[in-house]
Amino acid sequence: MTTLTDTILIVEDNAKNMKLVRDILRHKGWQTLEAVTGEEGVRLALEHKPALVLMDIQLPDIDGITALRRIREHAALDAMPVLAVSASVMPDEQQQIVSSGFDAYLTKPISLKPFIATVERFLKDGRAR
Ligand code: MN
Repeated sequence: MTTLTDTILIVEDNAKNMKLVRDILRHKGWQTLEAVTGEEGVRLALEHKPALVLMDIQLPDIDGITALRRIREHAALDAMPVLAVSASVMPDEQQQIVSSGFDAYLTKPISLKPFIATVERFLKDGRAR
């Protein structure tokens, strides 16, 4: 299966956050795929091979770190950047997120310009920089 070059998978269980991110990405002309649980996120990543994944950390089933680990078990998804999007402010939790292998860490509430710049950079350059 080929990678969907302009498609971004959003894994987010909060409807307001999902709408915000969806609106930002679609306004930029990108397509979106959406999952509200970690399991569904892993499934859609495997099924569609999006160009990029935006992963919430706190999810109703498996958390975003576990979902990332499952995604990284698949060699076919090696080139797919996965960015954490989390409101976490606890230093130890933030450290855990950073050290768990995400390609970048974006904070909630979303700051529009840096958010878009980071997404554009990973869409253009992929994981290898
Ligand atoms: Mn959440």
